[in-house]
Amino acid sequence: MTGVRKFSPQFSAMVNEADQGRCVLVAGGAGFIGSNLCDRLIAQGDRVICIDNLETGRSENIAHLIGHPGFAFFLHDIIEPFQVEGPVERIYNLACPASPPKYQRDPVHTFKTSVLGALNLLELARLKGARILQSSTSEVYGDPDVHSQNEDYRGLVNTVGPRSCYDEGKRAAETLFHDVHERDRVDIRIARIFNTYGPRMDPEDGRVVSNFVVQALSGLPLTIYGDGQQTRSFCYIDDMLDGLTALMETDTAGYDPVNLGNPGEFTMRELAEIVLEMTGAQVPVTYCDLPRDDPHQRCPDITRARRLLGWAPRVPLREGLAPTIAYFRDQIRERQQLKEN
Ligand code: NAD
Ligand code: UDP
Repeated sequence: MTGVRKFSPQFSAMVNEADQGRCVLVAGGAGFIGSNLCDRLIAQGDRVICIDNLETGRSENIAHLIGHPGFAFFLHDIIEPFQVEGPVERIYNLACPASPPKYQRDPVHTFKTSVLGALNLLELARLKGARILQSSTSEVYGDPDVHSQNEDYRGLVNTVGPRSCYDEGKRAAETLFHDVHERDRVDIRIARIFNTYGPRMDPEDGRVVSNFVVQALSGLPLTIYGDGQQTRSFCYIDDMLDGLTALMETDTAGYDPVNLGNPGEFTMRELAEIVLEMTGAQVPVTYCDLPRDDPHQRCPDITRARRLLGWAPRVPLREGLAPTIAYFRDQIRERQQLKEN
């Protein structure tokens, strides 16, 4: 039997314990949201332990943090138990592939990541007395038959479809968070995140914003799935980080799930038009099959977040797409240069 791995973060001697912030563990810290969160935490003086198996995350997302005195990275799959030496005050669980083609590649592993990963992180939170935030998802509502979705809606989820590993895994993780809180008084937060986009998304991620922008910038047709009348509500990464950190730090929000997302709702056709207009690309759109169980309508009701956190997103879609397009342009240029050299 292999032993439980033990991580001993070596924060540099440059770090003065007395005026350092807290120690925050970010599982999934090399991913899109996670790496942006690591930057934010480091900037505010926290020490950050990033744990990631690099399944969908990329080392280039955290390359600039490697060697920073307040940052430690451990390559690890959270489905395997682990221990951490020293204090941990906060744990963000962002570890899970979020793009449908990525989480469907190995559905059993995705389910294990949500369930076993949650158990391992909850145990760590219990041992350390840390507060722990779960990145849940609007997918817990499935293909919703109410609109918009508030937290009391219980969802319409297929247990045996291509999206089930993710949707049901995330639902099970919420249950585990709730039950461990009830049993052990672990201090939990549950964020139900709606579609979020911005710099550090993987150009090959397969989600709609990255696909459309990369296709437009590469002179390829935009691939609309189905008739393009399905809707999503897109939240810019900076707003999401504000929401996640506000939820983590609130002492008065209770332990129930909180929707975080931007209520601005768009059809995929509208999104394609906006991307074409903003990139100036002269490319056609093509219509492909709609994936099974693809939700038809999605829009967060953020009344609870507004009330409990005083939070609401500030960045409208076009404003957030501008730096996102610039980021993908850079990514494409860098890849092109690598190919040429
Ligand atoms: P992402 O794929 O960019 O990041 C996920 C990170 O978790 C990656 O770095 C990946 O390597 C890591 N990871 C995956 N499985 C792991 C495992 N078993 N052990 C260790 N690390 C593992 O996705 P993201 O968009 O940054 O999403 C982050 C979190 O937010 C996910 O939990 C996702 O379910 C949730 N979420 C995201 C969105 C969104 O629109 N971006 C929406 C709802 C929920
Ligand atoms: N989509 C699309 N073209 C693409 C990728 C996705 O039309 O190239 C659609 C997809 O079918 C879904 C919506 O865009 O209706 C959002 O898909 P995404 O994978 O970004 O997120 P999710 O379905 O998990 O909300």
